[in-house]
Amino acid sequence: MRVHSVTVCADRIDVIVDVGDAEALRTTSDAAIAERAIALLPGLEEHACKNGDERTFAEEIGDTEVPHLFEHVVMELMAKAGSPRSLRGETSWDFRRDGHGIFRVSFEYDDDLVCLGAIKAASKVMSYITGTGPAPDTEAETVRLRTLRQVPASA
Ligand SMILES: [Zn+2]
Repeated sequence: MRVHSVTVCADRIDVIVDVGDAEALRTTSDAAIAERAIALLPGLEEHACKNGDERTFAEEIGDTEVPHLFEHVVMELMAKAGSPRSLRGETSWDFRRDGHGIFRVSFEYDDDLVCLGAIKAASKVMSYITGTGPAPDTEAETVRLRTLRQVPASA
């Protein structure tokens, strides 16, 4: 999974990601994906997820699109850096329009720099989760993201 482009809008940040081959399209391609994600970021299990059938993200994580997991990883990193958990993300795709394996992921943000930093950190997290990169130090990333915030988050 590769971040293709990032666009900062007034109320959200839009990211286009390219999953490439069909193998890595869903988290079912490798059982270790969900295990690594939750071990690295346990907060993911508590995420609410607005999908059609009222399942929580904990129920969904083992069988969903890889970019949808990326969406939740970004939101979790933002939350760890002090952004409100009420912010929403959204993942959509139209392969016929955009090409196979292209996903559009949008993020609401309270601080654009924290959101951009979380997107960059989440790319490293996804490399590790999908078995193509080293384990990132998410606590160090969280500390770094907090320094990007213009107004310190209230404790
Ligand atoms: Zn979701």
